[in-house]
Amino acid sequence: MTLPSWQSENLGSMARTALWLLQVVGVDGTFTKVELREAFPDVAQIDRRLRDLRDHGWKIDTSRDDPTLTQQEQRFVAAGAEVWLPGKAKAPKHKASITAAQRAKILAADSYMCRACGVAAGELYEDSITPAVLNIARRKVLLPDGSTDYQTVTECKRCGAGGSERTVELAQVLAQVNALAPMERQVLTAWIEADQRTLGPLEKAWGVYRSLPENARKAVAAALAGDND
Ligand SMILES: [Zn+2]
Repeated sequence: MTLPSWQSENLGSMARTALWLLQVVGVDGTFTKVELREAFPDVAQIDRRLRDLRDHGWKIDTSRDDPTLTQQEQRFVAAGAEVWLPGKAKAPKHKASITAAQRAKILAADSYMCRACGVAAGELYEDSITPAVLNIARRKVLLPDGSTDYQTVTECKRCGAGGSERTVELAQVLAQVNALAPMERQVLTAWIEADQRTLGPLEKAWGVYRSLPENARKAVAAALAGDND
């Protein structure tokens, strides 16, 4: 089958990018963002089209995937869906519906509760007589390497209301976690292991301190200040 030209005006910019990779770069060839932009001077967000191709199974490595590449270089490793054919550029994989078996597996992994508010299936909300209904939602997850993944999460009908697609910026979350002090990281690790916010020695000490009479509170504060001398 003859491929259309990557310069074809009738195609969308993602399809043209795919054909440019095949016809100009070639499988296993490397290219830079500058070369990509020079090939498509009329397309404003050509980098984004390249990322969209990854959602369609196109494998494009950066220096993070392949240490032999320089920071500017990317390698076209393998072609994915034939996005220049009518219909193939649509229906990305995240639109596929999930099976009953997949649903059961996701619910089990999420401990049968809404990951946003913690309500369990059939449980009543505190402020209502309506029992909670759990759904499986899809989240667009931006991975640290710039590619996009679609991941599922259990969510109750109320938390999922609104319906607009929510995006998780994983790199931002990882940066926040990495910025924590060693003791904070230990506490967070314990919460993650328990899958709930448990009371550590610090919270317990605070709980006891807060309920103390004034003089006893002063004694605790003085003991702490004494530690610092
Ligand atoms: Zn909820």
